[in-house]
Amino acid sequence: MNNQKILIKNGLIVTVNPRMDILRGDILIEGNRIQSVDSRLSVKDTEVFYADDFIIVPGFVQTHIHLAQTLFRNMAEDMSLLDWLSSVILPGEANHTPQSLRLSAQLSLAELFRCGTTTIMDIGIVRHAEVLFESIAESGMRAVCGKMLMDYGEGPEILLESADKALRESLDLLKKWHGYGDNRIRYAFSPRFVLSSSDELLKQLSELARRYDVIIHSHASENKTEIELVRQRFGMSNIEVFDHFGLTEARLCLAHCIWTNETDRKIMKKNDVKVLHCPSANLKLGSGIAPVPDYLNRGINASLGADGAPCNNNLNIFTEMRLAGLIQKHLHGPEAMPAPDVFRLATIEGARALGMDKEIGSIEPGKKADIVFIKRNQVHSIPDENIYAKLIYTTQTADVRHVMIDGNWIMRDRQLLTLNEEDIISKIKL
Ligand SMILES: [Zn+2]
Repeated sequence: MNNQKILIKNGLIVTVNPRMDILRGDILIEGNRIQSVDSRLSVKDTEVFYADDFIIVPGFVQTHIHLAQTLFRNMAEDMSLLDWLSSVILPGEANHTPQSLRLSAQLSLAELFRCGTTTIMDIGIVRHAEVLFESIAESGMRAVCGKMLMDYGEGPEILLESADKALRESLDLLKKWHGYGDNRIRYAFSPRFVLSSSDELLKQLSELARRYDVIIHSHASENKTEIELVRQRFGMSNIEVFDHFGLTEARLCLAHCIWTNETDRKIMKKNDVKVLHCPSANLKLGSGIAPVPDYLNRGINASLGADGAPCNNNLNIFTEMRLAGLIQKHLHGPEAMPAPDVFRLATIEGARALGMDKEIGSIEPGKKADIVFIKRNQVHSIPDENIYAKLIYTTQTADVRHVMIDGNWIMRDRQLLTLNEEDIISKIKL
């Protein structure tokens, strides 16, 4: 861990603290933590960073990502979920070598840093999952990640493993990586979805997730055909299946949750199920629009993620924030999803979903120093009477100038310091 002190002077700080304070002031960072946040701090013998021209925000948290899929970007267009999966995505994942997977992860991480994302939850891959952990560790990203689990149904044979083998490998990875780098990397059990999971796997996961106190990360109720197939197999809804096998007793994080009924939502509320909302992917695959305002009204946690690059087609949190606001206004009127609420989904609510809200998701004393500097005065984004509207509707990726994770600079003046962008691009072009 580094021991340096940095004093950030005179930035416009969007704290995302419980009062949602926005203040002009200073931030003192010591090692990997925020020491103080105040309108004026004076500290001796400290590196000073002048931030007069910047809006300083907590690093963005994207709770549903597929690092393994970014090499399949722009390859799977105009298809619905199950065709998209079987014709392009699963064969692509089956064909990954450790080398291609590393490049896919590095390309993703570079893109994620460039839009100010400092924490991700990645749903992993069946084969060579270790490469994802290694790539995350080297890059400096804060992440929850797991080996993807598939032991049932159709799919390339090489991706279908026995529950025993898959869980043994998961536990090896968990023991090696959970807590790595002063807790920068955490493990999650990652069954792809119930259609690719045996009853036995689901039962065992419930027990294991509680024993090791880790997240279960999966997809659910994304597409109408998917929920019909789930009902044919189990005679119940997708959310009821998770509940039936006891997975709701663990910290359960489910991507999408578009097609849920009243019973499902009661189960979700009662068990504090976290919804990982991916608006671009939901629109692009024609899946539908998740009832996020209803979830929020009920007190169900929702957060944002770009999902995989082949159904988005990028990993840009600004696009996800913008769409998370706009698609609900279309359905529920202009008052739906005010900008501060959307901004919370991309920061503190993402942290809450991952059980990290005491550590990240806001700029407050004692929290980890995951901080993003956004250029304030740009022709496409001034004037800025409403800072949250500016951040979710007008800010562009290129306005993110500097990124810090755990008190370490990851990007300065848009130069990535932990990844060699030119090298990654040249290898992919070949
Ligand atoms: Zn996904």
